[in-house]
Amino acid sequence: MGTTYAIKYTPSRSDHTPEQVQQQVDQLLQEINQEMSTYIQDSEISLINQNQSDDWIDLSPRLFKVVKAAKTVYLLSEGAFDVTVGPLVNLWGFGPDGTQALPEEAQIEQAKQSVGFEKILLDEESQRMKKTRSGIYLDLSAIAKGFGVDEVGDLLVGLEINSYMVDIGGEVKTKGTKKGQLWKIGIETPDDRSRTIKKILRLSDMAMATSGSYRNFFESGGKRFSHTIDPKTGHPVEHQLVSVTVLTPTSCMEADAFATALMVLGPRAGMTFVNKIGVAAYFIYGTENRESTDLVEAASPRLKSLYPDSFAKMRTDISSGILN
Ligand code: ADP
Ligand code: MG
Repeated sequence: MGTTYAIKYTPSRSDHTPEQVQQQVDQLLQEINQEMSTYIQDSEISLINQNQSDDWIDLSPRLFKVVKAAKTVYLLSEGAFDVTVGPLVNLWGFGPDGTQALPEEAQIEQAKQSVGFEKILLDEESQRMKKTRSGIYLDLSAIAKGFGVDEVGDLLVGLEINSYMVDIGGEVKTKGTKKGQLWKIGIETPDDRSRTIKKILRLSDMAMATSGSYRNFFESGGKRFSHTIDPKTGHPVEHQLVSVTVLTPTSCMEADAFATALMVLGPRAGMTFVNKIGVAAYFIYGTENRESTDLVEAASPRLKSLYPDSFAKMRTDISSGILN
């Protein structure tokens, strides 16, 4: 997954040493990588991406689960979140072996021909998928980390560990408490240099994921190009949202995918979306222009009701002072 993980837990009655727990976690994450990483040439997803036929392809249970969840968020977000965006991600140089540079408009149009979740079919009964055209390339980078967090959490519960904090590259899940206290989880200040904490939340039985435009981007002609691609335009998103954090009570996979969906939608459409589906989200965005250092915060109504101490005073209305 190209990142690191951290786990904290309260030891259970079971007699596993931390080393044994770590060994099981490492093995699980290696298995998930071998299924879902486009950075591993012979992973299950890479073999599917190389397969140009329109045959039905059997998927491993975990991969099917993730692709199915990706479809749900695709439909809910009306195509903002779309794991078939791979050809565009690769074209803009944010894939496994790209150089980050401006592509030609004709190349973008060409790549768009193979983008759109409706171009793949899922067969739930037999856990298979089928590409309806060649060139389709699935990129699970925006959902697999969250899934990994959920799976590690389930592994820990299987070891009778019921109080934990699992963090894979900033996607987090907490369960129970740490010596009777809620888990303290930080949300970073969105900028590309410092790694300071903007907000600390006290969580239990909650998953959290953040997407941002402030770390993974390239600059060309004085303009920033983000790794989040709007599948509709074929271009990196251009709006003033710099960071968005989503909290969900159960699934970190869902939080991860929603955070990316919101990063595509931008602050205004994003707030409308989370209001409609009742999701807890925290937006940090610029006002005058994208490079502005004047950052404004907003919280969805659901987030305010969950954590009034941290968010009660924050605005929910993102309509003034921004472009989109
Ligand atoms: P991070 O990787 O920093 O956690 P995200 O979860 O938002 O951030 O995932 C961003 C990655 O998702 C991009 O690098 C790209 O591989 C992929 N991606 C880009 N645009 C989309 C999109 N519209 N839908 C789904 N995945 C996307
Ligand atoms: Mg994501």
